[in-house]
Amino acid sequence: MKNTATTKVIKGIAEMRRFSLEARKRGEKIALVPTMGALHEGHLSLVRAARQKADAVVVSIFINPLQFGPREDLSAYPRDLDGDIAKLQSLGVAAVFTPEAAEVYPPGHRTHVEVDDLSQRLCGRARPLHFRGVATVVAKLFAIVQPHHAWFGQKDYQQLLIIRKMARDLNGEVEIFDLPTVREADGLALSSRNAYLTPEQRPAALTLQQALHVATRIMAKGERSAAKIASNLREVIRAQAGTEIEYIAICHPETLHDLDTVEVRTLVALAVRVGRARLIDNALLDLRELSLRADLKKPVKPAVAAKPAPAPAAASAKPEAKGGATSPEKTVAKAVVKPAVKATAKAPVKTPAVKPAAKTAAVKPVARPAVAVKAAAGKKAARR
Ligand code: AMP
Repeated sequence: MKNTATTKVIKGIAEMRRFSLEARKRGEKIALVPTMGALHEGHLSLVRAARQKADAVVVSIFINPLQFGPREDLSAYPRDLDGDIAKLQSLGVAAVFTPEAAEVYPPGHRTHVEVDDLSQRLCGRARPLHFRGVATVVAKLFAIVQPHHAWFGQKDYQQLLIIRKMARDLNGEVEIFDLPTVREADGLALSSRNAYLTPEQRPAALTLQQALHVATRIMAKGERSAAKIASNLREVIRAQAGTEIEYIAICHPETLHDLDTVEVRTLVALAVRVGRARLIDNALLDLRELSLRADLKKPVKPAVAAKPAPAPAAASAKPEAKGGATSPEKTVAKAVVKPAVKATAKAPVKTPAVKPAAKTAAVKPVARPAVAVKAAAGKKAARR
């Protein structure tokens, strides 16, 4: 597939099916990257990686009403279809699928897909129907697009777990791949919802990353009590005006059950409201990795608010060449935690202190990921 090939924009479900059927008849491998649009480097890292593994990449752009609560930002959600199509065209995407909600959910639609337990945890507590909406639309997209692979970001770690579980429980054949979170130079995880942040709110938004960094440091120094770790994180976030913590979870990376004492591999996940934006972030920490990091044993510097940074350079996201799915529980979220450095628009992008594990996505925009991060990446998705 060449970048000069025209990207087809497909609205109708029947046309999308025909497109995929024809591609399959030609023996092509189809990859699907589901999105809600307003595309940024996080999305594009998935698209680039998908292109490496598939003959035809389909990106869906669908703001799924089912995953928004009644008081959430469905009508305000950022939209930029023309800009999105231009970006995808330049990456050689074969088709952009932009169905209408009325066709996806016609009157009388009654069927939902729900992944029990996982969907009720973390973000599911405050957003009880959110993951039912996500699982339903992704199951529909799989049925319509008939992809061989589908690509998701670790930024939405819980969503990734739920989709893996859903795909397996429904006996599908779609192979699920995931990539690390892409960040701005100051460490803020890219998100379409960052558009809601004012420059004044930026320091508050950066507390998620700072809190994950603190979790890493204190776990590296030997703290094992989840309650104490959470209380440290709470302090870091509350110290910055304009933050409202929704949850801080120190939990098992596969079941998402809360832990009392951290285990060898522990997920630290956060949701914090900053003004209109609800921000999430996470780090999958491995005590064995942390114990090898001498730099994490140094005293913790006070957090410094970072200035907004420009959009990052392209991430060179490459999964393992064959069967390269990295299941979230196999991959320590690289990058996730860098020291609270002063980042400016001119901040140099430095080589990561820790080399990304071979065959995992290297996330260029992160200037100094202090956290470990080697991952057992590149392994085929664990079948749970
Ligand atoms: P969304 O458009 O927010 O539904 O996201 C579509 C896909 O992009 C999901 O699989 C997300 O996990 C992924 N994604 C969003 N933000 C990032 C990011 N900063 N880094 C990597 N992947 C991301």
